[in-house]
Amino acid sequence: MQISRRDFLKYVGASASALCLSRLQIERVEQVFAAASSPPVVWLQGAACSGCSVSLMNAVSPTVDQVLLNIISLKYHPNLMTAAGDLAVQAATSAEANGNYILVVEGGIPTGSSGKYCSVWDEGGTPVTMASAVSRLAAHAQAVVAVGSCAAYGGIPSNFCGSAVKGVGSYLGQSVVNVPGCPPHPDWMIGTLAAALSGSLPALDANGRPRTYYTSEVIHERCPRRETEEASDFGQQGRCLIELGCKGPRSHADCESRKWNNAQNWCIGANGLCIGCTEPSYPSFPFYGGGEGDEDVGDDAVSGAATCVPASDATPTPPGDLNYHIYVPVVRTSAGED
Ligand code: SF4
Ligand code: SF4
Repeated sequence: MQISRRDFLKYVGASASALCLSRLQIERVEQVFAAASSPPVVWLQGAACSGCSVSLMNAVSPTVDQVLLNIISLKYHPNLMTAAGDLAVQAATSAEANGNYILVVEGGIPTGSSGKYCSVWDEGGTPVTMASAVSRLAAHAQAVVAVGSCAAYGGIPSNFCGSAVKGVGSYLGQSVVNVPGCPPHPDWMIGTLAAALSGSLPALDANGRPRTYYTSEVIHERCPRRETEEASDFGQQGRCLIELGCKGPRSHADCESRKWNNAQNWCIGANGLCIGCTEPSYPSFPFYGGGEGDEDVGDDAVSGAATCVPASDATPTPPGDLNYHIYVPVVRTSAGED
């Protein structure tokens, strides 16, 4: 299905309130699209599961892959682009040469062993690491957007110490727009991207998140299960999940009103507790524990994740040892304790 620019603008306009875009931002998006050249986007994937891209593609009407491929000038996306091999690399490198694109990063950046844990492509037979690609492309981007908790703060892979995964802002040492979530809601990604394309970045909170989606009030404050009887086990419909370890009291997001899967339901509505997937310290706390379960491992734990001791610069960790880390993750606090 071919989606025209007009269709996309109609979609953005109709969804302005859901995407929390102002009239001014919509007008700017319209102006950008009215210009002769499409706004270029380069999308890199590092230490990630591709779940953020999958979530993005769950957006409805028009389908987002069509938006990205036919409306926005998507120069590079490992899952969605039709080009492969040298042609794909060329698209990314010529975007880099021309500059003024939006750089979207999905996944964390492995920095251990000089970044050798993750390469994005080859140039003249030499692997280009994710770390080096992000540095190069960020230098010429008009905006850098980190989608998903791994790109924003290191997320799940940051707990595997050998690869020393960092979030984009921490790696670059600069502020970026963070759109965390594991995965983020498609509206959070599209709305932020539309705002960036309009040339006006959204207002951000102290953790670099757009305030419009990552509310200052925690989920717990607005949860329909607040002050209901506390559940003692899973499957007890309608009860507060605090004793099972719900992280609603520490999570800043609009999940309870926006809902997921085309507004069908959300984690707590499905009797699953909130695991705090939008928070900088995610997942450095027990998902299933009493109360908030992590009072002693607050958001400072994000620096704890970054203090994981990387493997030596010599040889990457052997697969057997890596499996150990995958199935028995070692979570360290900022004090470096297991
Ligand atoms: S602890 Fe969780 S389930 Fe209970 S009211 Fe707060 S957010 Fe809702
Ligand atoms: S309810 Fe909590 S765990 Fe679920 S998506 Fe929202 S912030 Fe993430």
